[in-house]
Order: sequence, then structure tokens, then C-alpha cells
Amino acid sequence: MRAIQIAEHGGPEVLTPVEIDVPVPGPGEVLVRTTSVGVNYIDTYLREGTYPRDLPFIPGSEGAGVIEAVGPDATDLVVGDRVAWCQVPGSYAQYVVAPTDSLVAVPEGVDDDVAASMLLQGLTAHYLISDTHRATEGDTVLITAGAGGVGQLLIQLAVSRGFRVVTTTSTAEKAELCRALGADHVLLYPDATPERVRELSDGGVATVFDGVGKDTFDASLASLARRGSMVLFGAASGPVPPVDPQRLNEAGSVFLTRPTLADYIASTEEYRERASEVLEGIVDGSLRLSVGARFGLSEAAEAHRALQSRGTTGSLVLDPTR
Ligand code: NDP
Repeated sequence: MRAIQIAEHGGPEVLTPVEIDVPVPGPGEVLVRTTSVGVNYIDTYLREGTYPRDLPFIPGSEGAGVIEAVGPDATDLVVGDRVAWCQVPGSYAQYVVAPTDSLVAVPEGVDDDVAASMLLQGLTAHYLISDTHRATEGDTVLITAGAGGVGQLLIQLAVSRGFRVVTTTSTAEKAELCRALGADHVLLYPDATPERVRELSDGGVATVFDGVGKDTFDASLASLARRGSMVLFGAASGPVPPVDPQRLNEAGSVFLTRPTLADYIASTEEYRERASEVLEGIVDGSLRLSVGARFGLSEAAEAHRALQSRGTTGSLVLDPTR
């Protein structure tokens, strides 16, 4: 089968197409033929070596496909079932071995690209909005990179929970997308200042969801209302340097958290609960997931370049047949 391998850390050029054996499912696992593979920002951190991983490895952690073979003890699954998964290493490949606990059945009407990119970003938006902060209905929240994969879903969930949304983005086209998803105010850089955010939120926002990191952290902190919540969930522009706790005091006794998805889907029960709510929203149309670009599996390097150059909106997928 074809897969993408990383033998050394580096830029997108280290994503190398290779031919390797189709893996064999063990107990509690299934073999899936991938029909679409999700691309996420975390894949770029692992590629660069920001997060440690033994070399060589096959990147990617989510996708969708059709069950081809079932391992011993993988009882309730059938060859031919359409499934999606996340948090399964080695997903940039034509075949993936996945633990049955990671699999979510894909209903008819949800296409392969949406299925392949709904879980990691959808579950992230879900836990961020539900469980990481102290804003309540009617409060204003700030979401950075609102036109991105996680950003688009966060805007919609924030609106549905009754928050007023201020969001930031880099181009007029992306701003239009954010407005269409229900954002109340969209600020373009360099107009996305704490002063503007404070004006639009009656003195400061209750929560900031910041997935950009280094470039926006200071402005995000300065945008908070007294006792607000700073939810730093990513580092698209680079990691935030160490923070002196005294800054939280000076910002108005604010709360800072740096959450990660794995801790919010640590039990299968929690994973399934969040996944079913995300899937329900996608199926009933209340949560719109937009697939912004599709590349061939062999073009994984191009996909990473596009993502890291801020050239994309919504989610990105790889087509394993190319
Ligand atoms: P996005 O689609 O949001 O892409 C990143 C966006 O960040 C860009 O489109 C760009 O939007 C913005 N950006 C601002 N500054 C920069 C910069 N210097 N370089 C690159 N991009 C920049 O990606 P994802 O939806 O995949 O991920 C969003 C964030 O969420 C990432 O930081 C990711 O690590 C994080 N994440 C965290 C999880 C967690 O549990 N903690 C789980 C999943 C994702 P614009 O052009 O509008 O400024």
C-alpha cells in the first residue's frame, strides 16, 4: 500500500510517499481501507518535531474508510461498514489498523471527506466550548482564526450556546465565511487589537479561545474581562513562551488553561458522547463542516504547505487513491 512516511523531522518536504505492507489487525482491532484522510495542524507539529515521536513514523491521526478485515475479538463490527476515527497514529495511508474503541459509524448522507475530518476538529470545538471556561449565555467570547478548521466549528457552537462571538482572521474572504457562520464581529489584522475587542464586548470578553499562540497570546490576554478565561489551545504561529503567573493577576485575576483533546476524550464513554453530539449536528445540518481543500495522499507536503501558509479555510483532506 501507499503511505506517507517521515524519516527525519523538518519542513513539508520530509513527507515522503513510500510503498509498505498492508498492516494486520490484532485483537480488538480492524483493518480499514481509507477513503479520505484528515489533515490537522498537530500533524505539522509532529512533522517538525515540536512534539516528540520516534522516527520513522507514518503521520496523521484521523480519517474515514471501509472495514476490510476484523481482528480477533473485534466482535460488533462487520466487513463493509463505513467508519471514521481519530487519535489513531499512522492515518496518512491507504490502509489503517484501528482499535475498535476509536471507530464511529458513519451514517448515510455524511460524505467521506466530512467523515474523515469531523472528529478531531469537531471533538476539539465541542470540549473547548463545553468544558474549559467560565463564560455563560449572553457573554461575549473571542475566537482566533475563525475561518480555520476548528475555528469554523467553534463559532457555530459558540453561537448555538448563546455566546456573542468576536473573531479574528487575515483576509476579507475569510471574514465573510466567519460572518456567514454567525460571528457577530470579525476583526482583520492589524485591526484585531485588544482595544477594539474591549469596545465590542463592553469592556472585555469572558473567554478567549486562542489556537494561534505566539503571535496572538498577549493581545488575547489583554482582551479579557475581569476573571475571564484564557483558553490557549494551539500554536499555529509558534509556541507561547513561558508565562509568569503574576500576569494573570494583572490581567484581572484571569484563568489560563492549555488543554489537549486527549484529556477530554480519555474514556471511551466520553469520546462516544462527544462524537455522537458532533455527528448529530452534522446530520441535522446545525453544524456545518466545510472541507476547504482536497489533495492526493502523495501530495501531503502540498497540503502541509497550504495549511501553514494560512492559505486554507475549513478542514483539509487527502485522497488515498492519488
Ligand atoms: P486552522 O485551519 O485553524 O489553520 C491555522 C490558522 O491559524 C490559519 O489558517 C491562520 O488563520 C491562523 N494563523 C495565524 N497566524 C498564523 C501563522 N503565523 N501561521 C499559520 N497560521 C496562522 O488549523 P486547525 O483547525 O487544524 O487547528 C487550529 C489550531 O487548533 C491549531 O493551533 C491546532 O494545533 C489546534 N488544535 C488543538 C487541539 C487541542 O486539543 N488543544 C486539537 C486540535 C487542534 P488566519 O489566516 O485567519 O489568521
